[in-house]
Amino acid sequence: MKTPDGVERFRITKEPFYLPVGQEVALFDAAYACRRPVLLKGPTGCGKTRFVAHMAWRLKLPLITVSCHEDLTASDLVGRYLLIGEETVWADGPLTLAAKEGALCYLDEVVEARKDTTVVIHPLTDDRRILPLEKRGEVIEAHPNFMLAISYNPGYQSVIKELKQSTKQRFVGIDFDYPPRELESKILLHESKIPDEIAVRLVRLGEKIRNLKHHGLEEGVSTRLLIYAAQLIQNGIPPRHACEAAMIQPLTDDAEMQRALKEVVATFFES
Ligand code: ADP
Repeated sequence: MKTPDGVERFRITKEPFYLPVGQEVALFDAAYACRRPVLLKGPTGCGKTRFVAHMAWRLKLPLITVSCHEDLTASDLVGRYLLIGEETVWADGPLTLAAKEGALCYLDEVVEARKDTTVVIHPLTDDRRILPLEKRGEVIEAHPNFMLAISYNPGYQSVIKELKQSTKQRFVGIDFDYPPRELESKILLHESKIPDEIAVRLVRLGEKIRNLKHHGLEEGVSTRLLIYAAQLIQNGIPPRHACEAAMIQPLTDDAEMQRALKEVVATFFES
């Protein structure tokens, strides 16, 4: 079978499982209807990426995701000239491809990227909806279906890595947090197929550990980590061991804190 060209290869054909927590679906729909970009704020592992995938499917938009990191530059987003044999060929970056062909472009953890990336994002986020390709001396107008979403975890950010007001104020903000108890249990059941009663206990354990966040833990247990623990349990690892491996180890390297967390786990699971 021929591989689809352009943005078509980024089309999501099967509905990604997503349980809405608040008004986020309606907000995103409305933002898209007026072609306003969205800013998803919230801790890691609470469902932002899954939500974007669900919205791309719902709005019938191909989804191009870029995981931003500290070496990511404007050229990585926009594109660059490549030397192929004797020839210099222009290759569109993910943002250009999305803007040209009308996809949803999701810049995950955008503050991690180099500062020059905001310069290329700005003109795409206001009424101009343009993308200057400086190296080509060209300005492209975004496709009518083009949509931009970015995510950001306010909990991590140091002052240096704050998103600037001039950037933030261009976006419709949607706040995310860990799903409430009943929804989080349903998510665990869907993603792991463990018994109901274990899912409920894992969720309660997660809540308990989240309450320790301000006592030396940088981040709480995310829904993602609860799912990982559930999947280990489903694959035969005893619950206590699964919780240690999937939740405690990734959360902290501090021996004292690990010991305290293991004690908390022991109050939820006997083995
Ligand atoms: P983030 O992008 O916020 O770091 P993810 O979207 O990757 O987090 O979420 C981690 C996992 O949690 C997802 O893969 C999904 O299985 C689950 N999840 C979290 N929230 C939801 C939700 N509301 N509906 C369905 N799954 C969810």
